[in-house]
Amino acid sequence: MPIKPSTPEEEFFARQEWERKRALAQTREQALKEEERKALRERHWMRCPKCGMELVEIAYQGHQIDQCSSCRGVWLDAGELEALSKAEDTGFLGSLGRLFKD
Ligand SMILES: [Zn+2]
Repeated sequence: MPIKPSTPEEEFFARQEWERKRALAQTREQALKEEERKALRERHWMRCPKCGMELVEIAYQGHQIDQCSSCRGVWLDAGELEALSKAEDTGFLGSLGRLFKD
């Protein structure tokens, strides 16, 4: 019978995976020229990162939440996860906030 890892263990390994993948992505981003970065920003602004359709932004309980008009995925701007995780420190959002904290 497999042993289920505890929440702190899951957070530790998930954070290690995130840091490794983030470092690889940053290496690829550094190789892009400024014009390429600008073109990517303009092409993808307010577009779903999964399906490319338009994101719809709403204000809810003091937070800006973007939802894809097509696949219904939810997108949070930089800083929104931290703000949400502070309101729910012991729950799932609190755990996510700790995982992606700089
Ligand atoms: Zn989508």
